[in-house]
Amino acid sequence: MSDPKRTWIKSPLYIYAPEQSQPVTGLVVCGNTIETLLFNNQPPETRCDSVFDASGLVILPGLINTHHHFYQTLTRAWAPVVNEPLFPWLKTLYPVWARLTPEALHLATQVAMAELLLSGCTTAADHHYLFPQGLDDAIDVQVDVVKQLGMRAMLTRGSMSLGEDDGGLPPQHTVQTGVAIIRDSERLISQYHQRHDGAHIQIALAPCSPFSVTREIMQESAMLAKREDVRLHTHLAETLDEEDFCLQTFGMRTVDYLESVGWLSDRTWLAHGIHFNAEEIARLGAAGTGICHCPVSNMRLASGICPTLDLIAAGSPVGLGVDGSASNDASNMMYEARQALYLQRLKYGAEAITPEKVINWATAGSASLLGRSDIGVIAVDKQADLAFFSLDDIRFSGSHDPLAALILCGAERAEHVMIGGQWRVTNGAVNGLDMASLLARHKAAAAKLVSG
Ligand SMILES: [Zn+2]
Repeated sequence: MSDPKRTWIKSPLYIYAPEQSQPVTGLVVCGNTIETLLFNNQPPETRCDSVFDASGLVILPGLINTHHHFYQTLTRAWAPVVNEPLFPWLKTLYPVWARLTPEALHLATQVAMAELLLSGCTTAADHHYLFPQGLDDAIDVQVDVVKQLGMRAMLTRGSMSLGEDDGGLPPQHTVQTGVAIIRDSERLISQYHQRHDGAHIQIALAPCSPFSVTREIMQESAMLAKREDVRLHTHLAETLDEEDFCLQTFGMRTVDYLESVGWLSDRTWLAHGIHFNAEEIARLGAAGTGICHCPVSNMRLASGICPTLDLIAAGSPVGLGVDGSASNDASNMMYEARQALYLQRLKYGAEAITPEKVINWATAGSASLLGRSDIGVIAVDKQADLAFFSLDDIRFSGSHDPLAALILCGAERAEHVMIGGQWRVTNGAVNGLDMASLLARHKAAAAKLVSG
């Protein structure tokens, strides 16, 4: 085998590496990891095969999105639900989503992942819980796209098992039996879940929400996750409607329900996590349960504001997620970090919520939700997942602090993105992807899906 190639990332405007005691002025990527950090504008001591001139560019660790529903890119800004809160929004969309085909899911996943990638995102979690007839291989379809784009993904095998006939929210024809869900989950873990540093594909188990799955599937998923050592993910405490549902159906609040089914642990990360009282926050923190903050979705559906700083103080890791494109409607991690800063300032004040804090949530915080220590920071021996942003645009003109400029002036698009030492975005375009053709096919699939 030949030696891995070395690339010198030379003379960037700024590198975000807050754990270092002095400014990082360059770095060397060797193979798929960061080999050396450079200081004081010193050149590398080792010979490099190539030099990448990063003049004028701000470098962040690749952003990590910890909650999405890729398929929802087909139902963005759909008029019947533009102004609906969660429960009626879901009830109107379920029958549309139930018509999803493998071809449409493939296109939707490509669009969502490419859009994330262009925003500087290198790792994405998707929560896919729709398995209508003919779409048994939904996660396999997504695996294809992850490989094609060279991104990292945590594909969570979602599920719905509590239909309307049994007191749940989704229509009966969109739910699966517990046996089918567990069998497919076992298959996906053994077929795709990678356990090594630098993993590109991982699987987690993700029953959809308290109002769409049975207690049994929550319990069985927790047992399977423990046995297979994979992570657990679900929606929790998103709205007060959900809290009412739990009180009426299970006779308990959301965190009590979570604990009663064996999920209150550091194996679990939850999307939203808004409606917790102080005692519940203390219990989540003590358990180390992670929370994915989804500010745009929470604002669009008027769900509420996640108590991020209280959760962190209690011991819960906090990361960021864009949530599905039917409630955001963008898949853009920089946009999400910016909105997190503004929304959280309304709750905690300007001084408490800094650009550094929201970038940390979008990187290291998100990495910890996914149980990963090999990504999320720029440091020696970590994966070379890097997002490069140019400040050469009207929106940054007159700005001073480069990191604050990215968030406050609203950087939305990365100039270049590297994942595991490979260039995946160059000059603002996804390498190897015919975007015009993809968008034409995706638009046609979206039109077909909503028209029935
Ligand atoms: Zn969601």
